[in-house]
Amino acid sequence: MKKIAILGSTGSIGTQTLQIVRTNQDLEVTALAAGSNIDLLETQIREFHPSLVAVWGEEKAAELKIRTKDLDLKIVSGMDGLLEVAVQPEAELLVTAIVGMIGIRPTIAAMKAGKDIALANKETLVTAGHIIMPLARECQVQILPVDSEHSAIFQCLQGENKEQIKKILLTASGGPFRGRKKEELREVQVEDALKHPNWSMGRKITIDSATMVNKGLEMMEARWLFGVEPKDIQIVVQPKSIIHSMVEFVDGAVIAQLGTPDMKLPIQYALYYPDRRDLPGERLDFWKLNEITFEKPDMENFPGLSLAFDAAAGGGSLPTVYNAANERAVALFLERKIGFLEIPQIIRSCMEAHKVIKAPKVDEILSVEQEVYEMIESRW
Ligand code: NDP
Ligand code: MG
Repeated sequence: MKKIAILGSTGSIGTQTLQIVRTNQDLEVTALAAGSNIDLLETQIREFHPSLVAVWGEEKAAELKIRTKDLDLKIVSGMDGLLEVAVQPEAELLVTAIVGMIGIRPTIAAMKAGKDIALANKETLVTAGHIIMPLARECQVQILPVDSEHSAIFQCLQGENKEQIKKILLTASGGPFRGRKKEELREVQVEDALKHPNWSMGRKITIDSATMVNKGLEMMEARWLFGVEPKDIQIVVQPKSIIHSMVEFVDGAVIAQLGTPDMKLPIQYALYYPDRRDLPGERLDFWKLNEITFEKPDMENFPGLSLAFDAAAGGGSLPTVYNAANERAVALFLERKIGFLEIPQIIRSCMEAHKVIKAPKVDEILSVEQEVYEMIESRW
C-alpha cells in the first residue's frame, strides 16, 4: 500500500490524482488540503477516508468540522494546517497540486520530513528552485515532476547520464491565440483565453498558456529540475500537444515522449515511479494523427515568454517578481479589469522596478511577492 497526502485536492490536478487513487487498490490517501471548496472536500473525505484534512480559512474549517462530526477526522486550517498535512507521519509521498507560492513552505517541510514530492506546483521551483533542489539531495528525497512536459523530460532521461544532455526541447501548444498578432490580441476576452485547444486545466494556468507565460514558468521549472542553463532549453511549438517534450544528447540523438494530452499519465507516473501501470483512456493512433508539425515560438507577439528568459538570466529574486506579477495580472484580467496585452506589460514594469536579491531565502521570496502585489494594487 502506498500512502499519499495531497495539497490542492479540489483542483484540476488534485481531482485527477484522486481519479487514479480510485482505480488503484494499492494507493491510499491519508491527508488532504484545499482552499475553500468544502462541498467537494466533504465528498472526497467520505470517499477516500483521510485522517487529516486542512482547509485554508478558519470559518470554512469550522463548518466542515460540523458537517463531518460523524467521522473520526482531524481538521486543521491556515499555513499551520498545510504544514501539518505536509509532514503527516503516515504519508510517504506528498502531491503538491496547490496553486501559487503558498506551496513553498509545505514542500520544504515535507522534504525535511523525508517525503518524496510529486510536484505539480511549478511556482515553488520557479521562485525557490535554488533552495528546493539542494535540499532534496540533502534530505535524500525525490522530486517527481507532474507537469506533463517535465514528466516527459524525466521519462526521456531514464537510464541516461544527465551530463550528456545537449539541450532540452520543451514543447508548447502555442495556446488558443497561436498565430495572432498584437493588434488582434488587444481585444480578446476572458472566455476566448479560457479555451485551450488541447488541455483541460485550472483557470489560472489556462490563461498562462494563452499568454505563453506558462511556457516561461516551465522553462524555469526545467532548469532547476534537470540542472540545465536556460540557454540550453529550446521552446518548440507543436500545436497538437502529442510530443510532450524531448531531450537532445551530445551525440545528436533526440529522445521524445509522446501520448494523448491527459494529465493522468504524468500524475500516475509520479505516484508509481519507476513502475508503469495500466491506465485506461484514449491511446495515440498514428493513422488518425497523420502528421505532427512544428513552429518557432512567437516571442514578439507573446512577450510573456521572452520576459521569462530575462527573469531567468537576472536570476535571484527576479523569477519571483515575474511569477507574482503574472499571478496578479491574470487575476485582474479574469476580473475584466485589464486587457490581455496588459498582462506582460505589468510583468515587465514590475521586473524593471525591482532590485534583484541574489539567492533569496524563503522569507525574502515571500516578501518580494508581497511587494509586487502592493505595487500592482497601487498602480492598476
Ligand atoms: P486549480 O486552480 O484547479 O486548483 C488549485 C487547488 O489549490 C485547489 O484545490 C484549491 O482549493 C487549492 N488551494 C488554493 N489556494 C489554497 C490555499 N490557500 N490553501 C489550500 N489550498 C489552496 O489549479 P490546477 O490544479 O490547475 O494547478 C495546480 C498546480 O499545478 C499549479 O501550480 C499549476 O501551475 C500546476 N499544473 C497544473 C496543470 C493542469 O493540468 N491543471 C498542469 C501542470 C501543472 P479550492 O479550490 O478549494 O479553493
Ligand atoms: Mg505543462
